[in-house]
Amino acid sequence: MTVYNFAAGPATLPDPVIKQIQEELPSLDGTGMGILEISHRSSLFDNIINTAEQDLRDLMHIPDNYHILFFQGGGTGQFAAAPLNLATNHKRIALLDSGHWATRAGDEAANLGVQVDVLASTKDDHYQELPQMPNPISNKDYDYLHITTNNTIEGTAYHQLPEHGNVTLVGDLSSNFLAEEYKVTDFGLIFAGVQKNVGPAGVTIAIIRDDLVKPVEHIPSILNYNLFVKKNSMFNTPPVFAIYASGLVLKWLKQQGGIAEIERINRQKSALLYDFLDDSKLFSNHIKKTDRSLTNIPFTTGDADLDKQVIQATTDAGLMNLKGHRSVGGLRASLYNAMPLAGVQALVDFLHNFERQH
Ligand SMILES: *Cc1c(COP(=O)(O)O)cnc(C)c1O
Repeated sequence: MTVYNFAAGPATLPDPVIKQIQEELPSLDGTGMGILEISHRSSLFDNIINTAEQDLRDLMHIPDNYHILFFQGGGTGQFAAAPLNLATNHKRIALLDSGHWATRAGDEAANLGVQVDVLASTKDDHYQELPQMPNPISNKDYDYLHITTNNTIEGTAYHQLPEHGNVTLVGDLSSNFLAEEYKVTDFGLIFAGVQKNVGPAGVTIAIIRDDLVKPVEHIPSILNYNLFVKKNSMFNTPPVFAIYASGLVLKWLKQQGGIAEIERINRQKSALLYDFLDDSKLFSNHIKKTDRSLTNIPFTTGDADLDKQVIQATTDAGLMNLKGHRSVGGLRASLYNAMPLAGVQALVDFLHNFERQH
């Protein structure tokens, strides 16, 4: 039975990458030592991290005045790192409340003593559409504006970035990083845990504009952007394996034709499922059409018991991890970069048959 994994993260990885990891695990480059055993101070690893950085730069067209940093601590770590490093002038940030992860980012900034102004929220609409900027904002008031480009749990995404005037834009791209094209230069800071679109859990990528990198006192070293720039992300032991595996995925993404091509495929994949859901008399997706995510698609029959039956039936058929997030219920299909079109087709065929039988 072919298994397709629709998990929201950690998530499915490309088959050729898993094969390569398997082949290279006992001995990397004929050294007789595997990636799980080598020093982060070796020339072997230097080459791995520098290649990964260059491949990411090529894929996202990242200009020279942006640094690429590799952290531990996940997207959640960056919820602290961003305010600690950047909210130093006004100690005040703006936030668009588009869902769970935006809320979590705001809570962490507030927890660190930063004033968080929620400019707009769609909480009352169960986050079924995106909050829009109500008024123009200025860097006279805010250190930055935080947005979540793709809302992993609710299934919305900013395909066009909100107007942010001269205020630095900080983007949590965790769940659509390299899945659709964004202009890096629209952001002061981008971060993403890799375990959704790029690799195994354990490393978080931050891309930061040079003028925002400055010495800040009394913050933890392992979240210090200035220090990580100086030390080429090796202030302490980095997550060696996760960086290596992410590097292999970045190579694979390049082979697929880069982000424009990946986005085209992701649009095709998501349209296949959305078109089915919109035609279906049993299943539906409630998200406003223009705000729909390419990577995370929640759907439901509207009946919790029937949803449970669908989840059981899909699991039995090798269509795994379709249970929706507990805060939303229903089902959710995560169609990250490594999910092939054939996987989405298999899901749609299955749901179509299920509907006919009910
Ligand atoms: C998963 C996710 C996070 C949290 O990531 P961790 O690596 O688990 O800390 C943050 N933001 C978004 C948008 C996510 O999807």
